[in-house]
Amino acid sequence: MSVTPQLALTLDNRFARELSEMAVPWQADDAPRPRLLVLNEVLATTLGLDPAMLRSPDGLRLLTGTSLPDGAAPVAQAYSGHQFGGFSPRLGDGRALLLGELTDPTGRLHDLHLKGSGRTPFARGGDGLAAVGPMLREYLISEAMHALGVPTTRALAVVATGRSVRRDTELPGAVLARVADSHLRVGSFQYAQATGDVGLLRRLADHAVARHYPAAAQSEQPYLALFKAVLTAQASLVAQWMLVGFVHGVMNTDNMTISGETIDYGPCAFLEGFDPATVYSSIDESGRYAYANQPVVAEWNLARLAEALLPLLHDEQDQAVALATEALSGFRQQYGDAWSAGMKTKLGLSGPQDEAVILKLIDDLLTLLETDRVDYTSFFRLLGAAAGGDAGPMRSLFADQQGVGDWVERWRALKPDAALMAGTNPAYIPRNHLVEEALNAATAGNLAPFERLLEAIVSPYQERTGLERYAAAAPADFGVYRTYCGT
Ligand code: AMP
Ligand code: MG
Repeated sequence: MSVTPQLALTLDNRFARELSEMAVPWQADDAPRPRLLVLNEVLATTLGLDPAMLRSPDGLRLLTGTSLPDGAAPVAQAYSGHQFGGFSPRLGDGRALLLGELTDPTGRLHDLHLKGSGRTPFARGGDGLAAVGPMLREYLISEAMHALGVPTTRALAVVATGRSVRRDTELPGAVLARVADSHLRVGSFQYAQATGDVGLLRRLADHAVARHYPAAAQSEQPYLALFKAVLTAQASLVAQWMLVGFVHGVMNTDNMTISGETIDYGPCAFLEGFDPATVYSSIDESGRYAYANQPVVAEWNLARLAEALLPLLHDEQDQAVALATEALSGFRQQYGDAWSAGMKTKLGLSGPQDEAVILKLIDDLLTLLETDRVDYTSFFRLLGAAAGGDAGPMRSLFADQQGVGDWVERWRALKPDAALMAGTNPAYIPRNHLVEEALNAATAGNLAPFERLLEAIVSPYQERTGLERYAAAAPADFGVYRTYCGT
């Protein structure tokens, strides 16, 4: 690796310094012919990075980790994880690197991280690489989530490496550069706890408090306060997933952040026809990570975080368990409140209305949507038009005309706010058939469909003429959608 001092960027190595037991110094593989596929200029600018610099040969070397600013100390992070319920003590970044932390012009700290940068000591049987399609997929979906107001890691760039990657076939390889508040996971705490070194666990918790929840440091029980803060952030996050119809697909504890950002876009997708049992991941045979299970799984993962934190909560194990259990019991209420508040907004209901009436209205709606497998995104968007008077297009989504007619009457009696709905219910999400079309074309060398789809989803609420096909449901022959892990 060469050092390029002219990169106007300073990367700190705070994680590596404070938590060296969990940081393996490592370097990215060479990228023989780096070629920029997509750069997030808006994000670069907010981070204080010059897009022109990032587009330059030095910039591409930075974005593939092959040349870093002086003082940078990239590491592979160690973490554990419950994968589909089974505990793996040693996962870690098998094909990723934390390049370091950068400070934006407002003083905020962000992780700069690469995915697909080569094998690390955590690679196990993997090749350490990533293909163009899955990295562009993470770019698209994470940017869609951000545009929808859902906390998420952000995609800074995807650079093709010029190296091919062996999957079912030979595919072009790529590296994703992404940015996050941090890459601390529930699995990071599980790893620290499993070492038996309580000092390490405490240092990790202090690091997390300082980075994400500084107010917890002022609490009488800072580590309990940390746990409660993560619980609140995750209750809100998963409620937002449910409201936008997002299925993460692989909610293992190593894929759940401490910051409350969505992370690791593998086998994820947005619901189309409403079915709570929807699963996209090809390996999720039991439906563990189905749409409707996500809040339950989040609570389960938080219980694993609580277990990992027990040694910090109280000297007496019984007391520690009692504190953790009590805190965990708040999840359902917090999740439920966040979800019903969000659902009310989606329905355009902002006034002081009878809660029981609204909850029954929501419940009946979900039954109607499920019975007719109504397109979730189209429904809410067209319901906004119905608030403005034109219920025809929305009603046409239902077979049960009587049922939807009765429901609309009850809803209209509550005086929904059409403007509120237009700013809440997106017209454009990354629909599965469009994502597939864009990624297939990009893999074959044509980025135009990817760019058009990206343009639609980064302004999801602003309906534009010419983009009608980006708001439409999949053609009937698209079939059952399946996505794959570890691609
Ligand atoms: P994920 O399901 O993407 O969250 O990955 C789970 C674990 O597998 C993490 O430790 C990853 O770093 C690792 N992993 C996934 N794909 C690869 C790969 N191609 N090479 C090496 N490690 C991988
Ligand atoms: Mg992961």
